[in-house]
Amino acid sequence: MTAVPRLTVTQDNEFWFAAAREGRLEIQRCSDCGALRHPPGPACPKCRSFKWDTVESSRRGTLHSWTVIHHPKDPSFDYPLAVGLIDLEEGIRIVADIAGVEHDRLRIGMELEVGFAEHAHGEILPQLRLPGGGAA
Ligand SMILES: [Zn+2]
Repeated sequence: MTAVPRLTVTQDNEFWFAAAREGRLEIQRCSDCGALRHPPGPACPKCRSFKWDTVESSRRGTLHSWTVIHHPKDPSFDYPLAVGLIDLEEGIRIVADIAGVEHDRLRIGMELEVGFAEHAHGEILPQLRLPGGGAA
């Protein structure tokens, strides 16, 4: 049985999870100063405005860093499990597991894209892959 906690969905981040279920990566944008931010939150960290809308990400970016997890093992994942931090073209970073890339081929700066996959509890969340879905 998985020990992964269920998502904590609030009025501030519900849009993000809803978009992920539809295969879109949305980024929160301040309506006053235009700053993009992630993870979603109620106020702009730059100008403190509570007004926001969203922009759709290209889902393209480069690998900023990664790690390979061996322990503890949870039945929701296959191990060893690579988890990466991607610098998206839009200038924000997100964390997601990496699929379809042999771990010894991972390199800082390599191009990846954000896809989506089913995770624990049937939730649809981002997953990093090679551009175009090819294998490493
Ligand atoms: Zn702002």
